[in-house]
Amino acid sequence: MSKCKGYAATTAGAPLAPYSFERREPREHDVVIEIKYCGICHSDIHQTRDEWSDYQEESIFPMVPGHEIAGVVTAVGNNVTKYKVGDKVGVGCFVDSCRTCAECQRGLEQYCSVQTVWTYNARDKEGAPTYGGYSEKIIVDENYVLRMPTNLPLDACAPLLCAGITLYSPLRHWQAGPGKKVAILGLGGLGHMGVKLAHALGAEVTVLSHSLKKQSDGKRLGADHFYATSDPETFTKLANSFDLVINTVSAKMDWNQYLGLLKVDGTMVVVGLPEKDIPIGAFSLTARRRSLAGSQIGGIRETQEMLDFCSKHGVACDIEVVPIQKVNEAYERVLKSDVRYRFVIDMASLSKD
Ligand code: NAP
Ligand code: ZN
Ligand code: ZN
Repeated sequence: MSKCKGYAATTAGAPLAPYSFERREPREHDVVIEIKYCGICHSDIHQTRDEWSDYQEESIFPMVPGHEIAGVVTAVGNNVTKYKVGDKVGVGCFVDSCRTCAECQRGLEQYCSVQTVWTYNARDKEGAPTYGGYSEKIIVDENYVLRMPTNLPLDACAPLLCAGITLYSPLRHWQAGPGKKVAILGLGGLGHMGVKLAHALGAEVTVLSHSLKKQSDGKRLGADHFYATSDPETFTKLANSFDLVINTVSAKMDWNQYLGLLKVDGTMVVVGLPEKDIPIGAFSLTARRRSLAGSQIGGIRETQEMLDFCSKHGVACDIEVVPIQKVNEAYERVLKSDVRYRFVIDMASLSKD
């Protein structure tokens, strides 16, 4: 075991503070990664505050969050073939899975029917708690490590590992592309990547944001249209018009009103994760043979495909880099939608504590 410095919430809702813990010794297929940057995902806030207790068996404290991890390989196990010291690599939301079930065989490790080992707030196959990327290093099996673009800044690519893949996967699955009208609901960390990726895939993109404050950003990110959901007119104007709505919002909303924006055979994909069940009227779906679907991050193969796509199209995240000492402040700003558009922690700041 080796010592690792990081930041943790010691109990649900406690502010994050310096915390020391142990990482395992590298095994033959392990890659040791010095973490350079880690994005702040809204899921980090939900989990450190234990907001998903209705849906999760346990939350494990102290919790070191962070699953948008970008860094450099500093050592490899004896049998590692995919990576070498010095490579720029990433780790997303999971670090292992059963590897043999039908889903794992299809490259859908995030839907593993036995056990997806989440990067933090989970237990590994030996039952030990996992700790995430708000820390100096991480040790991960090479099969769950991603290769980062070398032509784009590493800090701006860190959030691709969750925000990027969470939007890329449903955009590909529901075939966003030329001739398709796609709406992105909520222009936050996930939403802004949805706009960039849907635009790069050739779809006609509309942003649905709660106000017009981010309108000029929306256009710059690649949106063709921008509407405020606080204006009731929006729902009349846009009724029955989208093939695909990707919903990144976790706040309370009138779901039936948003389903009304889908055309015949249109689909709303839920990626935002509210604390409570969502109320939906059957008529909102039956009226136009609409579908309501959900999607969770993406598998290793598809995450690598997304990183390569971003490298080719020059797509990275709009970020604000912060030292780890400002993490609690950053959380408050995320909750106020006051981030353009993802906070990324510069892990070099850990040494200042
Ligand atoms: P975020 O940066 O906070 O963005 C959420 C956006 O929702 C905000 O920017 C805001 O956009 C909108 N919003 C916030 N409060 C609102 C309110 N009261 N009413 C209406 N809209 C509101 O969060 P994120 O990191 O993108 O994550 C979004 C959600 O996705 C979280 O629940 C997170 O846990 C979940 N998530 C899911 C997956 C998955 O695999 N399914 C992966 C990662 C994250 P506007 O200002 O434009 O309205
Ligand atoms: Zn995330
Ligand atoms: Zn599996």
